[in-house]
Amino acid sequence: MNFFDENDLEILRNANEERVLDDVELVLRERTDLCPCRDCRLDMVALALNNLPARYRISAGHGIHRTDISFSQVRAAVIKACAIVKRYPHHR
Ligand SMILES: [Zn+2]
Repeated sequence: MNFFDENDLEILRNANEERVLDDVELVLRERTDLCPCRDCRLDMVALALNNLPARYRISAGHGIHRTDISFSQVRAAVIKACAIVKRYPHHR
């Protein structure tokens, strides 16, 4: 058995995922110039997460919690990601 077989990695979560998902939803509600389709949403989330440091924790609630990423940092990453997806969408 290896590490992946012995451990349930599904419980590992990047705490920023939920924050970015929530913020993309908020921004899409406010801005009608952005495409809200599934592909564009996922591109926005992926791009924003790639521009923020990861904050992994165990989904059951234990683990080390760091909250050193502010709302404005999350929002800045989301706005930047939205601009890129708007300019270069994966669809026409
Ligand atoms: Zn789209």
